[in-house]
Amino acid sequence: MLEPHQLKLSVSQEHPQSTTAVVKSLQSNCSDSNTMEWELINLDADFISGVTPPSKTELSFHIVVSEDEILTIDGVHPWRPLTQDEWKWLGLESLADHYLGKVNDIPIYSHEVDPDSDNPEGYEFETLWSFLNQVEQPVFYLVGRAKQIVEWHRNHHYCGQCGNVTESSNFDRSRKCPSCKQMFYPRLSPSIIVLVNRGEELLLAKHAKTRGNFYSTLAGFVEPGESIEEAVHREVMEEVGVSIKNLKYFSSQSWPFPNSLMLGFHAEYESGEFVLQKEEIADARWFHYTDLPNRPARVSISGWLIEDFIRRTSSNT
Ligand SMILES: [Zn+2]
Repeated sequence: MLEPHQLKLSVSQEHPQSTTAVVKSLQSNCSDSNTMEWELINLDADFISGVTPPSKTELSFHIVVSEDEILTIDGVHPWRPLTQDEWKWLGLESLADHYLGKVNDIPIYSHEVDPDSDNPEGYEFETLWSFLNQVEQPVFYLVGRAKQIVEWHRNHHYCGQCGNVTESSNFDRSRKCPSCKQMFYPRLSPSIIVLVNRGEELLLAKHAKTRGNFYSTLAGFVEPGESIEEAVHREVMEEVGVSIKNLKYFSSQSWPFPNSLMLGFHAEYESGEFVLQKEEIADARWFHYTDLPNRPARVSISGWLIEDFIRRTSSNT
């Protein structure tokens, strides 16, 4: 069971704009064409994923990851990656470099740095959670990609089967053990998330581990040997004890906490009374779409499902 609905609704954390930081930011805005390029980029449309870096380029973007945190520049909002010069002068040693792909022919890299190194002056490491409400979605997904690739590399540097050092492939995102030939791809965990409706009502649940008065859709990991649809039926039955019908695929979302791929569905209630799985679900209720409790933010697929249901139901009435 996972809790993708448990968004930490962090309020925008304004950095105190120290004079140094402001000067630094102004300098980089004025003098670095790289920064200008970033502002013009349409990441959603123009990012092309890749594994083979180009030979030396004049411009490049750099995302720096330390454990599960991302480097941010003091006083720079919204977040942007470091430019080539900023990365060069940062003075942090990279444990591993990963080419992520390119945007408008400018390569983007992620770098893993030693979590024990000192914070460079004028910069700060922040969690990916703090990005959620502060950057546009395509930027969030890019940073999530950077972090997941760093983690995958860190966890598969050695072969899990025989212990030898693995090697990166030149043609896809994989590592291979030269000794036992085992392959390692970045791990994704498919999960389902479902909004069950009964006429104009929505089934929302308060999850046992969630603090505060907060209701969300039901969700859970897909098990080995099971189809996505089976997972939806099973999770709903396990968590609240009701049968559902007419599953309709809605949309998906990369959810890098730590490596989920959320597959969202609408479903209709069929039969049964609530029987709650106490370890997971503290409360579950039917709410009329015009009278909803505190619910997930719109940055998550849970929020999208609810918004979509409200939009469709209200236009039908
Ligand atoms: Zn091996």
